[in-house]
Amino acid sequence: MGLDDITRRIRAAESAAGRAPGSVTLIAVSKLQPSERVAGVLAAGHTVFGENYVQEAQAKWPAWTAAHPGVSVHMIGPLQSNKARAAVQLFDAIHTLDRVTLARKLAAQMAEQGRHPQLFVQVNTGDEPQKAGILADELPGFLALCAELSLSPEGLMCIPPDGEDPAPHFTLLRDLARDHGLPGLSMGMSADFETAIAHGATHVRVGSAIFGARNAQGT
Ligand SMILES: *Cc1c(COP(=O)(O)O)cnc(C)c1O
Repeated sequence: MGLDDITRRIRAAESAAGRAPGSVTLIAVSKLQPSERVAGVLAAGHTVFGENYVQEAQAKWPAWTAAHPGVSVHMIGPLQSNKARAAVQLFDAIHTLDRVTLARKLAAQMAEQGRHPQLFVQVNTGDEPQKAGILADELPGFLALCAELSLSPEGLMCIPPDGEDPAPHFTLLRDLARDHGLPGLSMGMSADFETAIAHGATHVRVGSAIFGARNAQGT
């Protein structure tokens, strides 16, 4: 547990997969964490953080990023279209581009604000009806629409179904990204980031294994 331990495990997983040291970006997921824990990880010099809720991120990150230049904040939670403006203002990357209406809103906001957060398209690799994300079959059409809107996603993101072996989902996401020439793969959380790295993850999203258990509300 803790930042140093997770960083060590990431370096070991990179090495085991024959990947260059530092090729995986650790997104420290700070949603619903007490401020003093986040302050500790900032003080340790970590620079990439993840949040799930626009309002929570708006309340805490502007002061922290002002105090720690070079810190970037990634949106990894579901994004309502009416929060697109705030999200483009606030975040350096958005991992949850998951539908046409959101693509249109983000494109309009990026043009208006002249800001260009990195984008990842969320893929519903388990075809789960309740889960957000583009179905694998619909990905080519969705990426074509992104291109029409002048959006250039950096990569793909997935959250494998609860209680399933994540490896086949990581493999599917990797193959889809390769087929579409996308370099980024946002996959792997506290329980499975080493497996994700073995399957090519470029961004792992790790919360509780760094910070400890979250406050009970939310997820
Ligand atoms: C909360 C969250 C994480 C981090 O989860 P942990 O199990 O605490 O590492 C990663 N990705 C997404 C999309 C999340 O919502």
